[in-house]
Amino acid sequence: MSNIQDKVVIITGASSGIGEATARELASKGAKLVLAARRQERLKKLQEEIHQNGGQVIFKVTDVASHEQMEELAEFALKEFGKIDVIINNAGVMPLSPVHQKKINEWNTMIDVNIKGVLYGIAAVLPSMRERKEGHIINVSSIAGHLVFPASSVYSGTKFAVRAITEGLRIEEASNNIRTTIISPGTITTELLETISDPELKSAIVEDTKIGIEPASIARAIGFAIEQPSDVAINEMIVRPTIQEL
Ligand code: NDP
Repeated sequence: MSNIQDKVVIITGASSGIGEATARELASKGAKLVLAARRQERLKKLQEEIHQNGGQVIFKVTDVASHEQMEELAEFALKEFGKIDVIINNAGVMPLSPVHQKKINEWNTMIDVNIKGVLYGIAAVLPSMRERKEGHIINVSSIAGHLVFPASSVYSGTKFAVRAITEGLRIEEASNNIRTTIISPGTITTELLETISDPELKSAIVEDTKIGIEPASIARAIGFAIEQPSDVAINEMIVRPTIQEL
C-alpha cells in the first residue's frame, strides 16, 4: 500500500497547473484531498473528475492572502476528515516587471500570495500537527528562489523567502516530527505567465519558456516526498526540464 493512501492533503492553488496535476496524482494514490483556490468552477470540475475516477476530494473556495480564510480551510479539513497530514502551499503569482516600473500593486499581490499565503497555510495547520506530533508541510518555491533573473527581483524575493521560511520551520519543528519540503520547479507549462501585465515582457518570456515540461513532473516529485516513510524527510528538490540551463 502506498504511504499516500488515506493521507489528508490540503492543496492550495489547485484550480490549475501544478496544483491541479498534484491533485490528480495524489488522488490516484488514495489521498483524501482538500482543494483550495479562488475559481470555484475549476475546483468543482476537478472534483467531479476525481470522483468519477473513484478518488476522495472536497474543496473550499479560499483566498490564501486571507489569514481568516486559511484558518477556515484548515478547520474544514479537520471537520470533514478528522486530521491534516500534509499541506501543499502551492498557490502563487508571477507578475514579473523591472523594479523601476514601480508596479506597487503587483509587488503587494506577490508578497500577499507568495509569502503571506504560505505563512498563513503553515499557521493554519501547525497547531493540529504539533498536537499529533506528525505532519508534512510542502512549500512551492522556484528556480527563481535560487537565482535572480532580469525582471524577477520581487518574484525572486518572494521565492527566496519561501525557502528561508521553510528551512527555519524545518529546524523549529524537527523535534515535533513535522517534515518540511521545498519544491523548486524550473520551467513548467502552466497558466503562470498570464499574471505578467507587460505585453512585451510577456511575449519574451513565453518564448523563453517553450522548453517547459508538464506540471505532472512536479506532481510526481511531490508524491515522492510524501510517500517516504515518516522518519525520512525530503527537504528540498529542484526539478527542471533537462534542457534548461539556468
Ligand atoms: P498557475 O497559474 O497555473 O496556478 C496558480 C494557482 O494559484 C492557481 O490555481 C490559482 O488559482 C492559485 N492562486 C493564485 N492566487 C491565489 C490566491 N490569492 N488565493 C488562492 N489561490 C490563488 O501556475 P503554476 O501551477 O505554475 O503555479 C503553482 C506554483 O508553482 C506557484 O507558486 C508558482 O510560483 C510556482 N512555480 C511555477 C513555475 C512554472 O514554470 N510554472 C516555476 C517555478 C515555480 P485561482 O486563480 O483560482 O485562485
